[in-house]
Amino acid sequence: ALEVHDVHKWYGTHRVLDGIDLTVRPGEVTVVIGPSGSGKSTLLRVINHLEKPEIGHVSVGGELIGVRRVGDRLKELGERAILAQRGRIGFVFQNFNLFPHLTVLDNVAAAPVATGRLDKAEARALARQLLTRVGLGERTGAYPRQLSGGQQQRVAIARALALRPGIILFDEPTSALDPELVGEVLSVIKDLATSGTTLVIVTHEIGFAREVADRVVFIDGGRIVEQGPPAEVLDHPKHPRTRDFLAKVL
Ligand code: ATP
Ligand code: MG
Repeated sequence: ALEVHDVHKWYGTHRVLDGIDLTVRPGEVTVVIGPSGSGKSTLLRVINHLEKPEIGHVSVGGELIGVRRVGDRLKELGERAILAQRGRIGFVFQNFNLFPHLTVLDNVAAAPVATGRLDKAEARALARQLLTRVGLGERTGAYPRQLSGGQQQRVAIARALALRPGIILFDEPTSALDPELVGEVLSVIKDLATSGTTLVIVTHEIGFAREVADRVVFIDGGRIVEQGPPAEVLDHPKHPRTRDFLAKVL
């Protein structure tokens, strides 16, 4: 499970996360929605230890992210431990972030080799298998610039899967894509969702949220305003701020 406990994050005097509590059970798909600037990306970055909260902590599979408990105090981890923790959390960015100088196959195979989990031959075999799963088994020798945005994003998803993470975080995975390429990426994510992968997805694709989410979380002003099954939050929102937001995006 992922547990976010009373997380506060601020930049200077600007409160970006203002006491977030969130639990995601294994296999659960959580979709996070909310206005621009509400703190969605920051929340994912705190979960993945790209940002450190001023207050609060996060744990994945019972292990504290970024810190460990010593008696009743929290101590920061060293760089190696942080890298090991990040290997347990997949992250798919809006802009794919592939390595331009590596082939598709090596983009996917690189991390398991770099972290010493697999040797090169094993990592490449796994990469082929994952690329086939996302529909790119025929393009393993291509370079990112030779692929469409939708294909690049599918490579990025295969790359996240290569570390066999306990949870995958998606930050607006389709918002940089041309409209006709959105569907192919959403269908790969849907396939992960139905196969029991634990997912946290920030997206503005409300129809998609309704289809895949076990739970929808609406964030505004760094707080969770409302959360629940899609049929409640999306179709019968209780809070006026949720209603306003949905009226704008639907
Ligand atoms: P969007 O839907 O536009 O992606 P978001 O909900 O992901 O928005 P965040 O990117 O988490 O929002 O940003 C929340 C707030 O924190 C914004 O007001 C942003 O300007 C601010 N912020 C984010 N990162 C930093 C930073 N490194 N330094 C200062 N302010 C930041
Ligand atoms: Mg964002």
